[in-house]
Formats: sequence, structure tokens, C-alpha cells
Amino acid sequence: MHTPNVCDSGEKAMPFRASVLTLYPEMFPGPLGTSLAGRALSEGLWSLEATNIRSFATDRHRSVDDTPAGGGSGMVLRPDIVAAALDSVADGRPMLALTPRGESLTQARVRDLVSGEGLILLCGRFEGFDERIFEARPLHPVSIGDYILSGGELGAMVILDACVRLLPGVMGAASSGEEESFEAGLLEYPHYTRPVTWEGRTIPEVLRSGDHAKIATWRHARAVEDTRLRRPDLMERHGGASQAPPSSARRRDTKAKDV
Ligand code: SAH
Repeated sequence: MHTPNVCDSGEKAMPFRASVLTLYPEMFPGPLGTSLAGRALSEGLWSLEATNIRSFATDRHRSVDDTPAGGGSGMVLRPDIVAAALDSVADGRPMLALTPRGESLTQARVRDLVSGEGLILLCGRFEGFDERIFEARPLHPVSIGDYILSGGELGAMVILDACVRLLPGVMGAASSGEEESFEAGLLEYPHYTRPVTWEGRTIPEVLRSGDHAKIATWRHARAVEDTRLRRPDLMERHGGASQAPPSSARRRDTKAKDV
């Protein structure tokens, strides 16, 4: 789908442009048309165009796939058809192919991707892509996790949702996302809200104390503890994370940015 670009006024930044190549363009914008991403889409902060890979088929049957070389079950997307689809939108934006064989998506990667002009996302189906497409085009294989989806479309939506919420003007000014899970190599601390006592459970006293330094220390300790318990892999990858002082205290002391 097309959203009019908002670049008529010199003050406005160019919108982040997403092109999705898929056999199911009708799946878009889907959930990206609602809530935060949907509002940003209609405000022209980003644009989304979904192109049907099948429109690049060359034969009478409009086929896009063929049987795997070497045998085995399923079908493989043909490199010539996929290349034609990629070439139709290629303009220097990063090109990502959704595949469980790809590099795992991380918040750091999302920040990197969102700093550019936009993205081209190639969605697989069946058994995936002919491997030669990765040699013939600057296509980066990306996975959204260690499980198998039936197609790349939901993965493309995950990537776009993660990117769009970081675009300037999408989240409120107060919430830049800098304190969220993964930003400091830790899961975020747990949250609480009213009622103060619910089913006999009371919000931790420290959070009601009004002592911001104490709150920051408690939150950091909980972030470290929960990360150690739930995601020891994150802890390992970011060796020093557990040594960092509470982020709000650090920011007050040094005026340094958190990321
Ligand atoms: N035979 C492949 C899986 C194919 S699943 C394998 O074992 O590696 C069909 C399509 O769904 C893939 O081409 C890809 O585009 C998408 N997909 C499935 N799981 C995914 C994941 N974890 N991350 C990103 N894309 C995925």
C-alpha cells in the first residue's frame, strides 16, 4: 500500500520508507496499520509499500518456485524471480531477507536500521530462497528468533514495528526508549501501578518512597537479578553490564547518554 510522502515542507524529515516483497501483499499493513505504527503511517512519518513477488513471474502459470536441487520436500523460491523483485525496488536502502538461517535481530541492529532512509524486506515462503540470491545481491539474512514461521511476513512486521516506534516523533518525547530492555544489555526492571495493594500484594515500599536515588539503585539491582535468572546469555554477551551504576544516577552525574 502507498502512503503519501510528507516531504513538501523543508522542515520535515524524509519519512522512513519500507518496501516489502511478498507473495501475500494483502497481509500489509495488517497490525502495522493500528496503534502507534498506524498513526505514524497515516501521519506520513513512514511509508509502506508491499509488492507481490508473483508479479515478476515470467511463465504462463506465474510460478515463483521450483523443486529443491538434490531432492527433498517442499519448494524453493527461484533466484531469477526474487532478483527481479529486489531490483524493482533497490535504491541503496538496506535489503534484508527473512530467514531462520539469518543473523538474529537485536535492539542494537534495530537502532542501526532505523537510522537509515528505510528498508527493503524480502519475505520467504515454502522452504525459503535459492542460496545464490545472497551471493548475487547485497541481501542480509535476518532471523527474528530460533523457531520456524510459515512465512517471512510476520517477521517483516516485527522488524518494521521495532523500527517505527524509534522514529523521531512516533513515541512521546518523554519516552525515548533508552531505559528499555536490551538497551543496556539488561532486561528492564519490573513495573507496578495502582492499586497499591492488589490481592494481598503490595507495591515494593522503595517505589513509594519518593527517594529517586534509592529507586534507581533498586531498579538496577532488579534488572541485573532478572537478567541473570532469565537471560544468562545476555549477561554473558554484555560482560560489564552488571557493574554499571543505576542509569538515572549515572545520567545525573555525567550527563552521558545511556546508549
Ligand atoms: N526451510 C527453512 C524454513 C522455511 S520457513 C529452514 O529450515 O531454514 C518459510 C519462510 O518463513 C522462510 O523463507 C522465512 O522467510 C520465514 N521464516 C520462518 N522462520 C523465520 C524466522 N525465525 N525468522 C525470519 N523468517 C522466518
